[in-house]
Amino acid sequence: MSGRFSMLPDETENPKFTHAVFHLENEGRLVFDDQRHFGLMKIVQTDALLQAKELKKLAPEPFSDEFSIEYLHKTAKGSKRSLKEFLIDQTKVCGLGNIYAAEAMFAAGVDPRKRADKLSKQKVLRLHESIRAVLDEAINHAGNQTVDPTNLEGNYFSAGTTAGWHVYDRENEPCLNCETPIVRLKQGGRSTYYCPNCQRT
Ligand SMILES: [Zn+2]
Repeated sequence: MSGRFSMLPDETENPKFTHAVFHLENEGRLVFDDQRHFGLMKIVQTDALLQAKELKKLAPEPFSDEFSIEYLHKTAKGSKRSLKEFLIDQTKVCGLGNIYAAEAMFAAGVDPRKRADKLSKQKVLRLHESIRAVLDEAINHAGNQTVDPTNLEGNYFSAGTTAGWHVYDRENEPCLNCETPIVRLKQGGRSTYYCPNCQRT
């Protein structure tokens, strides 16, 4: 859903939906293309970066000290929405999209339909650990892939984990833990995949 940066040599033409080009001192150029026009570009002073209104309201990074178990517990207590909708709200938890939210909830064994403020401290603890574990695995997996930033047609940065998805996009396929068919449901207009046996509370 996002736009894309590519490092292009001089002889390569700009992609069709190019919106911004940075000419670099050491030859080549950094090109931003965005077919769906969802991207936003803004120039700010480095020391004012975190004060920019687009970044200011974002929740702490999952790997930062601010993203503590206490933070997650307190923030969840203040939300009456379903856990899934809570997790993909970037002002509450930053960095989880539809896929990784589903994978983190599966890893923690929590029901995506449960209200965020009803989550026990024990579950918050497991969820906190799972969010970091799922993102960590995905980042490592992406880091081991060969990336060709000049190959715009190539499906680079294809998301994934070494073992593939546990629940995401696996409707009716057997759960990897218990073989119960994975269920898909709609939450806030988006699909959520989960195991009704492993994720009961
Ligand atoms: Zn299961």
